[in-house]
Amino acid sequence: MKFNKITIAGGGVLGAQIAFQSAFHGYEVMVYDISEEAIENTKTFFKRIGEAFITDLNASEAQVNEAINRISTSISLPEAVEDADFVIEAIPENPTIKTEFYQQLGKLAPAKTIFATNTSTLLPSQFADATGRPEQFLALHFANEIWKRNTAEIMGHDRTDKKVFNQVVDFAKSIGMVALPLNKEQPKYIVNTLLVSLLNAGLELWGKEVADIHTIDKTWTLSTGAPFGPFAMMDVIGINTVYQVNQIKANETKDPIDIKIVDKLKEMVEANELGTATGKGFYSYPNPAYKDKDFLK
Ligand code: NAD
Repeated sequence: MKFNKITIAGGGVLGAQIAFQSAFHGYEVMVYDISEEAIENTKTFFKRIGEAFITDLNASEAQVNEAINRISTSISLPEAVEDADFVIEAIPENPTIKTEFYQQLGKLAPAKTIFATNTSTLLPSQFADATGRPEQFLALHFANEIWKRNTAEIMGHDRTDKKVFNQVVDFAKSIGMVALPLNKEQPKYIVNTLLVSLLNAGLELWGKEVADIHTIDKTWTLSTGAPFGPFAMMDVIGINTVYQVNQIKANETKDPIDIKIVDKLKEMVEANELGTATGKGFYSYPNPAYKDKDFLK
């Protein structure tokens, strides 16, 4: 069965993108957030996303306006979900906030409504009981800038109904995503399982002083045909995030190499070398060395 009414809970960075993408593909969309201020913020996101659709996808202004007109907003959860076929949750990555949200949602939404979480780092099984309808709950994970990076990882937990899973696969395709079904729960899905392994391996080579960052990135780029290496990628992700993730790891492992890596990252953070966001990280921008025509020679 096709969904007609979609509700997005949380109109932040990702929620606004999912709402816009769904409306652009013809769905009636409701965005729920906790305050009028947050909704104003969502509307600002819609303007920017609309501009990106025009620049990146050659969408017309009329198409963008039609998409925006298909989106309604509400700060009342009962109103936002009263007739929803599908609720996509994109609220903060905080287990307590998400659990409380699902406990309320499970009571308010009609019995037919299917729920999906866009969580990046948590597992759907963690919230399955809170929803009150575990068989109608799963993860649907988008990437930032979904109109360009159009992956949708679909991951159930061990009680997700197969029919529900397939319906969500069909929905993802219907909004222009490439549906990537996972057969079982996997922390960090496919994308971040691969990415984190690569980034950690790069950091370890650097921390052990096996090679300098240019050599490591050059090796990866030349030997795999990837457009850039792990250190260039960390500049895009943001050194702050890389630092925080590795600090947690080093606190757990107490491994001297992990601690050395964190110390080096901390120095960068303190020097405001946060990557592309501040113009300097492992490389200097706007003309990073890895874009130099001689870099791979
Ligand atoms: P964000 O902070 O930009 O947005 C969160 C929104 O949720 C805000 O508008 C906030 O007002 C609202 N909110 C807070 N509490 C709420 C509640 N109880 N009910 C309803 N709304 C509430 O966060 P984001 O970056 O959009 O991330 C949202 C989710 O998407 C997280 O689970 C995150 O892991 C996931 N995600 C993020 C990215 C990314 O690149 N930002 C990528 C993939 C997945």
